Amino acid sequence: MDRARMAGGVVAVCAVAAVALSLMGRVLWCSCGSWVPWSFDTWSLHNSQHILDPYTFSHVLHGVLFYAVLRVGLRGRHPQVGLVIAAGMEAVWEIVENSEAVIQRYRENTVSLDYHGDSVANSVSDILACSGGYLLAWSLPAWGSVAVFVVTELVLLAWIRDSLLVNVLMLVWPVQAVKDWQVGG
Ligand SMILES: [Zn+2]
Repeated sequence: MDRARMAGGVVAVCAVAAVALSLMGRVLWCSCGSWVPWSFDTWSLHNSQHILDPYTFSHVLHGVLFYAVLRVGLRGRHPQVGLVIAAGMEAVWEIVENSEAVIQRYRENTVSLDYHGDSVANSVSDILACSGGYLLAWSLPAWGSVAVFVVTELVLLAWIRDSLLVNVLMLVWPVQAVKDWQVGG
């Protein structure tokens, strides 16, 4: 697979995801109407509605992890195909995350009664961030990817008191002390 096909594959994945998410009823853009492309306050209604927010960086880490897994899965061959697969896995994740059932569950477990799922623009941005993370890991030596992972986790913990690993931990094994610390921000 050459570079053009690889890029075309990622664009196709984004297009399919965008159509699917629109049909599922997700808004194209934040309902606030502001065209500012970023939103850095995770406790606001704008979170996951604009293009760039702190969680964009945790999606970059998805890409780094997908690269590691697919390198083993594809036995170190076809990294271009791996990128399209990684984008596809992220698209599936975004679609599941933004399904009515998961949104409902999220609304019940948090105080955000106004949460109606991520915007389509944000989901596409997350798929691209994941693809970027994959390309980053592809271009770096293994220790470089590990460094990117650790530094990003630490920055997110200091910035928004959340990160990819903490997110997974709280999903699988909720720790009250961590929850208190997160809300205390
Ligand atoms: Zn907004």
